[in-house]
Amino acid sequence: MAEQFDVVVIGAGPAGYHAAIRAAQLGLKTACIDAALGKDGKPALGGTCLRVGCIPSKALLDSSRQYWNMGHIFDQHGISFNDAKIDVNKMVGRKDAIVKQFTGGIAQLFKANKVATYYGFGQLQAGNVVKVKQHDGSEVELKGTNVIIAAGSDSIELPFAKFDGKHIVDNVGALDFTEVPKRLAVIGAGVIGLELGSVWKRLGSDVTILEALPDFLAAADAEVAKVAAKEFKKQGLNILLNAKVSKTEIKGEEVIVSYTDAEGEKSLTVDKLLVAVGRRAASKGLLAEGTGVKINERGQIEVDDHCHTGVDGVWAVGDCVRGPMLAHKGFEEGVAVAELIAGLPGHVNFDTIPWVIYTEPELAWVGKTEAQLKAEGIPYKAGSFPFAANGRAVAMVEPAGFVKVLAHAETDRVLGMHLVGANVSELVHEGVLTMEFSGSSDDLARICHAHPSLSEAVHDAAMAVTKRAIHKAN
Ligand SMILES: Cc1cc2nc3c(=O)[nH]c(=O)nc-3n(C[C@H](O)[C@H](O)[C@H](O)COP(=O)(O)OP(=O)(O)OC[C@H]3O[C@@H](n4cnc5c(N)ncnc54)[C@H](O)[C@@H]3O)c2cc1C
Repeated sequence: MAEQFDVVVIGAGPAGYHAAIRAAQLGLKTACIDAALGKDGKPALGGTCLRVGCIPSKALLDSSRQYWNMGHIFDQHGISFNDAKIDVNKMVGRKDAIVKQFTGGIAQLFKANKVATYYGFGQLQAGNVVKVKQHDGSEVELKGTNVIIAAGSDSIELPFAKFDGKHIVDNVGALDFTEVPKRLAVIGAGVIGLELGSVWKRLGSDVTILEALPDFLAAADAEVAKVAAKEFKKQGLNILLNAKVSKTEIKGEEVIVSYTDAEGEKSLTVDKLLVAVGRRAASKGLLAEGTGVKINERGQIEVDDHCHTGVDGVWAVGDCVRGPMLAHKGFEEGVAVAELIAGLPGHVNFDTIPWVIYTEPELAWVGKTEAQLKAEGIPYKAGSFPFAANGRAVAMVEPAGFVKVLAHAETDRVLGMHLVGANVSELVHEGVLTMEFSGSSDDLARICHAHPSLSEAVHDAAMAVTKRAIHKAN
């Protein structure tokens, strides 16, 4: 007979573990099921984010940045050294240790919150029963008054560039190269392609990123994308736009990548190929016949604004539903659904979800871009401030980039903030906070910011909205 729970969560990634822990905090009897295994073959909670996404990529971005700075920035500080070496296995080993620490941390949090953990693949049956095929081959059935599906996403594979785990890889393989590839091609100049391309470029790889679209980072503010493109070029990242890959061939230890651009057919020979063309909701095998839960043509589980599937007691959150595939979007949805189940007013504000690309310089934004405001006919004022005029940024040898604040022309309410530069992954939250509290550019301009700090660029940009920035001509 199926064991009864108030809440059964399928998937222990960012969306699922947040849902499970919050539900347990609220006194609901909660179970969470996860199928993933870590590099050591043992169960590893935390999903894509902790195992092969956000955290390991940032670990390698940081290691590679230290190395890059040695060769490109240290000299300006008057520091010289002889014989810098990279130990890729040690670098990857450090990343693995961080992954182990954080995936193990979720197991501990589940224990502390009394979330019953099941390791295996869960399939939703009709009547809110989840059948779990555990790793030892045994099966258990869990019945949830509520079931939260948080199955996440998988890398999209291209039919002409099948992953072989050695020459043609996705993020999983690109986080685990055992040496710096001499030549690396990346299909897709999105967040993952740019971040992982940057890691290996900084470590010495000759990196070419092939992007089918004509515009670079079309979702970002056009000026932010322009600065980023210029800085990436300076770093030697070769980004080819309008380059459509049509075929790949593995020959010996090399991959031949055929693509077409404005000039016609071309090819590129590399040692490794990273395919980073996006991710697809992981809904395969998740639903038995007759559950009533709908999956759309993109493989996503259909939900309403409150993450409810329309089937009594069945919810879905995170990458497996509509909306941006971001860990923190999943966090918010997981918490909101647990709170709704407990009768609290759970809610996610999609208008204030920040976006970050952790390259050098970093890119970050929240709210609408100028292009979106123009398209929607919303009158706005813009104020921007360059890091080249910010004392802290210059002292850090990080003068590239700027902060731009967009505010409504009549009400002054902040509608967007767009940043490119050092640590903007942290600074963007000034915009998030202001927008969450329906603040104005004047509110932001009147808040005392510590000097010298990068956040003063946010302050000056807010002041520039009404042409009263102190540290630049208005
Ligand atoms: C290289 C890379 C870098 C990234 N960097 C960032 C970043 O910096 N910031 C950011 O916000 N986002 C980042 N992301 C995206 C982020 O990882 C995802 O948005 C996030 O992990 C989604 O969370 P989730 O809980 O919905 O799904 P997932 O993290 O994919 O977790 C789903 C879990 O459910 C399990 N599962 C699936 N189906 C079943 C089943 N039927 N039974 C049992 N278990 C199941 C899976 O094994 C997995 O553990 C990155 C992604 C990648 C690939």
